[in-house]
Amino acid sequence: MSQAELTSLVRQIETCRACPLADSRTNVVPGEGKAPAALMFVGEGPGQTEDELGRPFVGRSGALLDTLVREELGLSRQDFYIANTVKCRPPHNRTPTQAEVEACRPFLTRQLALVDPAVIVALGQTAAAWFLGADVRVTLARGRVHEVDARALLVTYHPSAALRGGAMVVAQLRSDIARAGLVLAERR
Ligand code: SF4
Repeated sequence: MSQAELTSLVRQIETCRACPLADSRTNVVPGEGKAPAALMFVGEGPGQTEDELGRPFVGRSGALLDTLVREELGLSRQDFYIANTVKCRPPHNRTPTQAEVEACRPFLTRQLALVDPAVIVALGQTAAAWFLGADVRVTLARGRVHEVDARALLVTYHPSAALRGGAMVVAQLRSDIARAGLVLAERR
């Protein structure tokens, strides 16, 4: 992987107008972090704070994710890569449509190839469906290691769902992140 390729991809994403989300965004949120990296997180799409700042997972849900990853894995943002299925904020934080996700799919596909993670953590339904198909359910898919293109994929709740769901869901998210650390140690 050349850093130049990733930089060029980010430039491409920043000027993309391939779906209607281009009309409502403030900033594109391409993704960021270490590349190549053994660990990559994939979320759904930018929220309000992410849209304002052009960076992924920088609102309340990002703060929760950062805390859990630091406490369970001893890692910070410079140790992994993080991106979303769609790079522009859906209005009012609605779920991106299938057409929007498909329009944006080539970017995440290319990011995965360039970052080349051994372990991917899909955060929430949209990210899980991106990898495993629309019929996947987070509650059923979590707790197992899925193999996708010779990479380990773990599915867990989106941190915003954990914030809404309370202590029990936060504990489940924490436990899934800890499990990702164990898989990472095996795959390295
Ligand atoms: Fe392009 Fe993706 Fe943004 Fe749609 S969400 S405009 S496909 S970068």
